[in-house]
Amino acid sequence: MKYVCDLCGWEYDEEAGYEDAGIAPGTPWAEVAEDFECPLCGAPKDKFSEDE
Ligand SMILES: [Zn+2]
Repeated sequence: MKYVCDLCGWEYDEEAGYEDAGIAPGTPWAEVAEDFECPLCGAPKDKFSEDE
């Protein structure tokens, strides 16, 4: 599953994780820290939507 930032379009891919923020590949979005922010625009986690 992928999740996309509603504000800027940056995408989190659960398969890839986001190692720049210490998120290992395979980490489900639900387990990403609640204070995670979009690395491009700083949007909070609740501004992300499931990508179709
Ligand atoms: Zn963003």
